[in-house]
Parts: sequence; structure tokens; C-alpha cells
Amino acid sequence: MSKSPILRVAIDTPLARLFDYAAPAGPPPGSLVPGVRVRVPFGPRKVVGVLIEVSDQSELPPNKLRRALSILDTQPVLDAELLELLRWAWRYYRHPPGEVLAAALPASLRKGGDALATVTTWHVTPAGRATNLTAMARRAPKQAAVLATLCRTDGATDEVLSRHEGSWRAAAKALLDKGLAEKRQSLSAGVAPPADITPGPQLNAAQRDAVTAIDAAAGRFESLLLHGITGSGKTEVYLHAIESVIARGEQALVLVPEIGLTPQTIRRFSNRLGVPLAVLHSGLAAGKRLSAWRQARSGECPVVVGTRSAVFAALKNPGIIVVDEEHDASFKQHEGFRYSARDLAVVRARKLGIPVVLGSATPSLESLENARRERYRLLPLPQRPGAAKPPSVRLVDTRGEPGESGISGNLLRAMQRHLTAGGQVLLFLNRRGFAPAWFCTECGWSAQCMRCDARMTYHRQRDLLRCHHCSSERPPENTCPDCSNPLIPVGQGTERIEEHLADRFPEVPVIRIDRDSTRQRGELDRLLSRVRSGDPCILVGTQMLTKGHHFPGVTLVGVLNADQGLFGTDFRANERLAQMIVQVSGRAGRAERAGEVLIQTSCPEHPLLTRLLEDGYTGFAGEALDERRASHWPPYTSLALLRANAMDNDAPFAYLGAALRAGEPLAADGVELLGPASSVMQRRAGRYRAQLLVQSPTRSALHRFLDRWAPLLPDLAGARKVRWSLDVDPQDLQ
Ligand code: ADP
Ligand code: ZN
Ligand code: ZN
Repeated sequence: MSKSPILRVAIDTPLARLFDYAAPAGPPPGSLVPGVRVRVPFGPRKVVGVLIEVSDQSELPPNKLRRALSILDTQPVLDAELLELLRWAWRYYRHPPGEVLAAALPASLRKGGDALATVTTWHVTPAGRATNLTAMARRAPKQAAVLATLCRTDGATDEVLSRHEGSWRAAAKALLDKGLAEKRQSLSAGVAPPADITPGPQLNAAQRDAVTAIDAAAGRFESLLLHGITGSGKTEVYLHAIESVIARGEQALVLVPEIGLTPQTIRRFSNRLGVPLAVLHSGLAAGKRLSAWRQARSGECPVVVGTRSAVFAALKNPGIIVVDEEHDASFKQHEGFRYSARDLAVVRARKLGIPVVLGSATPSLESLENARRERYRLLPLPQRPGAAKPPSVRLVDTRGEPGESGISGNLLRAMQRHLTAGGQVLLFLNRRGFAPAWFCTECGWSAQCMRCDARMTYHRQRDLLRCHHCSSERPPENTCPDCSNPLIPVGQGTERIEEHLADRFPEVPVIRIDRDSTRQRGELDRLLSRVRSGDPCILVGTQMLTKGHHFPGVTLVGVLNADQGLFGTDFRANERLAQMIVQVSGRAGRAERAGEVLIQTSCPEHPLLTRLLEDGYTGFAGEALDERRASHWPPYTSLALLRANAMDNDAPFAYLGAALRAGEPLAADGVELLGPASSVMQRRAGRYRAQLLVQSPTRSALHRFLDRWAPLLPDLAGARKVRWSLDVDPQDLQ
């Protein structure tokens, strides 16, 4: 008698293993394929898991082995290629398989929803389009009305027709019989292609070379690093490369930073490529996410654009992966499954045997090092196309400058000049709120968060103190609890700058763009379109302004406080500051007008700033890489960070101490364990935080160590008294 096969199933739990089940009774032949979903009993619950392997034996004794309830799919929801990538990812990042798979599947599929359901959509045929609607309206008004709706929409669903046309079915049937309309089964209504494709500009020589190199990599793995200064036309290069991919009948996967996935970006892609776009990001409602997922998987959408988790998009026929702004920190997930979508994009492309293009004006030092070692092919775009000139950049020494509200006289005069000449001004300050401190000038007391080692930020509009680390809020104290003197807001936040400028420059609008001012859906787009109108205005904003947006009317950029990044504690602080300065400077003078950039600092002789100004980002990066090599930081070493936190300060240290003792005998080939030490912000949201750093001269030695060490971590003494996580290739050591 043949034994029933054993199913090894990934289940969305924090346990770092697969679970064995006996196959359900009488599974349809051929249905036990890895990648199909399986409904199984799990403790007292029934859950949906994904079949990873079929085996003929289990370590469980037969009486412990439970039987799976049913197989949910006739075809795998995760094909062999994607399963292989996910398997690689859970091993590399040492993360529980079930949680890794959950990252790749839309929520409705994780709950057992139908992967293949289709909807009927109605379309106009060419004959229908050629019909004279006015003439038809006289004979058959209902048919004419329905036909008119079909001409306007591409792929109207039954629901849309009912909403617009009331009882429409008889008319639609008549149109169908006459060949004026047709019915199709599609996976959903996606971002429909526009009626007309907008042609792009003629490429310049550097862009053409880049496109040629990408085209030449078709059908094989190659990593290409497109290093183009801001406004040099990187997106045009992607668009051309993607056109060839579509022409070959293949799909393009485009990853953009969280903040870069604006309606503007999507419009630009769809207007140029003229194909339906599947858009994937975490903010999508479940239904939309599922339909985008289906369209990507079925190949119905040749272009898939998304943020971080879109690296796991199911694709029918992938031909290229593009990672725009590859240096952006949002490609790394900072909690739970801590993967880097940029790195996984490269891994996926290698497994698929297709090219991957990483683009940035300020590539990460890791990618530049890969280009130096000729693992990545460097494609430079050193100039802006046409008449657009790079901006001139100057430092403004704020020592002894009698500024107003953090804006120096130099900068104020420049603002006046640019506004009078009809330009727009952009001021960058990486601090939301009104003031970063609520302060007693008598004794120096300042309002602290009760739950974090951090100051509260004063928000004037809401008249609240708010902690930017744990989001707790409270009304501001009126008088100092220590000396009873009145308290005042000290320092500058975007809200305060906005208020000050509205007084100072009453003749122009002041537009603030930060997380507070754009909380409402559609608000960012609305503010940006006001800027794009081109009239003189002052833009004040945070990080949100430095990424991806084009402000052709901006002729002056002011960085209000570069000092914030100069003395960071993290080994990446320099790199982040240089990227921020270059990115925000790049917003100036994109069109015909030359731009000017003023950077305020109290430390104008700082080597980072002088190097950046004299030699640009490449010069800075060369020096920063030398420093990293000298001080044994990535990319010359590989890191993993074990973090732990708890309500008291001892538990994290006890746990990390146990981890250290377990790790020391296993550390070989130069692997070192450093710590445990308190995190830079020791207490956050009421929890005490500490960490243990693993540093290795090579990636392979790190992973040999992790192979033996990581499995011990869940069972170490004190593991249950802390929340702990292992971060492989951490982006920051905070
Ligand atoms: P990036 O992605 O590098 O920031 P974009 O591709 O968005 O740059 O190009 C910046 C601007 O320059 C856009 O308005 C784009 O239409 C324009 N542009 C790009 N390439 C050319 C070209 N070869 N000739 C003229 N304009 C171009
Ligand atoms: Zn006081
Ligand atoms: Zn707090």
C-alpha cells in the first residue's frame, strides 16, 4: 500500500521552520505542486499555508502527523522561480519562511481568496468606434448611450455600465450582435493605457549609450549602475529600455522608493509606454492589490511598478528589473522581515538571467564599490540634457550671521532676488513641527517624552507636544516644572519657517510639504500641482522634497541646516548627508534657468562639505569608501545586528549576553562579536534597547557563522523576556 505523501508547508508564524502534514484525502492528480496553497489545521485554528516541498517521510511520528484539509489552487500561486527567490531570502535573512512568504502574497490570497477569478469587461470594437453616434441615437438611443460609454472607458465592467446606463444589457447584447462591442474576460480593470502615447525627447549620446548597453544585456544577467546626475534623464533611459522589453513580449518590473510612487510617476510611465500598468504598493486596498497582482502574474500588464514589496511580484515573463533611486533607505524593510528590495532585485535578476538596472544620482557606496570591482557595469550620465545647467552651490557660514528664524541674511537676500526674477524657492529642513524643543530659558529644562530618551517637538497648529519617535502627545506645560518660569519654543521646524516666511514675503504663497501637511490623501499631489503652475512661491519641506519630484520653476534651493547630518553617530551618516545635499540641490534649475544652491552650516570647513562641493558626489564617494575600508565598515565588511528590547534595562543585556556567549565559540575566519551595548536612543516607546553587532571580513564567513548561531537565538536564556530581531545587512546601527 502506498503511503500518503508528506506536505511541507510554510505557515505565517514566527516559528522558523516548515510544518509537515499528510496530504489531504484524494488530492486531484498533479495538484501537489510546490507553490499551491493548502488549508491546514494549526493548533485550534484552520490556516492557509503554502506548499513548499512534497516528501515521502516526516520526522514526526505518524500519530502526530495531522492531515491537510484541502488544496486551494490548481496552479501554484508562487511559481518555481519566485519560490526559489523566497527560499533564498528566508535563508539569507534568517527569517521564518511563513512570514517571508506572507510578504509575497496579497492579503486576500493569504486568507484563501480566489487567485484566478476574472471579471467581464465590455469594449468597443474598431467598427463601434467608427459608428456615427448621433445618427444611431435617433434610431436606438439606448445602444448609442452604451456605445458612447464604451468609447470613453476602456474595459467597462458590468458594474460601471449599471451605474452609468441603468438597464443596459439588451442594448449591449445588440451592440455585441452587430460587432460594435465585444466582451472580454480580464483579471481586473487595471490602470488603463492612455489613448495617445506622448513621445519622449530625442536621447543624447550618453543616454543612447546607456540604452544600448541595457538592450545588449537582454536575456542574460547583468547589473548595470546608471549613475546620472539629477535631471540627467535617467527615467528616459528606463523608458527606452522598457520599450524594447515590451517589444520582445516581456515584462518590466520597476521598483521606486516609497515616496517616489506618485500619480505623476505613474502617469509619466503610462503616457509614454501606452500599455496597462500594474501598480503595487502597501497602501493599496486589498482588492486593488489582488487585481494588480493578478495582472502582473498573468502577463496582462507588461509593466509592473511598485515599492519595496513589489520585488516579490509574480511575473509571467520577466525581461528586466529597474530599481530607481537605488540608494533610497525605503528599499530596506526596517521591521519584521528585514530584507533589502534592492539587493533582492539583483538576486532575482541573476536567478532569472535578465538584466537589472540600478539608477541614482547618488548611488550607495555599496553599489559604487561593486562598479569599481566591475561586478556592476557603470553607465554614467554626466550632463543634463539640452540647455539645463547644473546649479552653482555655495556654503553659507552661519557663525555670527544675524539670521531670522534660522535663515541667514545671505539666504534671505538670495530669496528676494530669485522671487523678484520670477523664480521659485525651495527651502529644505529635516524637521517637522514648529520647534524641536519646548524650553525654559532660565534653567534649561526642556520637555522630554515620557517613554523615549528624546525631546518633545512643539506643533503650533495643534498646540501640542509630540514625540517623533513614539508619536505620543500631550498639551504643552505652561510654566517650567523646575523654576516656574514661562516656557518657549526653541529652534526651527518647518511649521515655524512657514509662519515666518508668510510674514516676511506676504506677496508670494508659502507651501509647506512634510508628513504633517500631506496627511490627507491627494494633498501632496494638490500641493505639488500648485508648485508646478510655475508662479513664484516658496516651498518649505523635509525629506519629502528631496526625492524624485521635478520642480522646473525652482531656481534657488536653500539647505537650512546641514549641521544636523555632519556629526551623526552612524557609519552611514556621512553618506546620507551627501546624498541629501546632492538630491535637494538637484531640484534647482532643471529647466532653462540656471539654479543656485545655498547650504547653511556652522562648519563650512568640514571636509565632507568641501569635498562634496569641489569634487561632487563621485569625489566624496571615493573618499568615503577609503574611510570605510580603513575603519572596517561595509562594503569592506559584512554585518548582522542582533537587537533586543524590553520594559527593563537588564533583560536585553541578559539575552544579548547569552547570545554573545553562544556565539563566541562559533566565531571563525575573522568574525567578531561587538557588544552588547545600549542603542543610541536607549529607551524608546517605553522599552529599553540594546544590541550586539556581528562584523565579518567577508559575506561568506558571516553566513557560515549565522548558519550555526542564528538557530540558537530563539532558545537562548532570557529569549522570552525580550523582543529580539536579527538584522542581516542592517542599514543603520540605531
Ligand atoms: P532623472 O530621472 O535623471 O531625474 P528625467 O528622465 O526625469 O531625469 O529627465 C529630466 C527632465 O529632462 C525631464 O523633463 C525629461 O523630459 C527631460 N529630458 C530627459 N532626457 C532628455 C533629452 N535627451 N532631451 C531633452 N530633454 C530630456
Ligand atoms: Zn526652568
Ligand atoms: Zn516618545
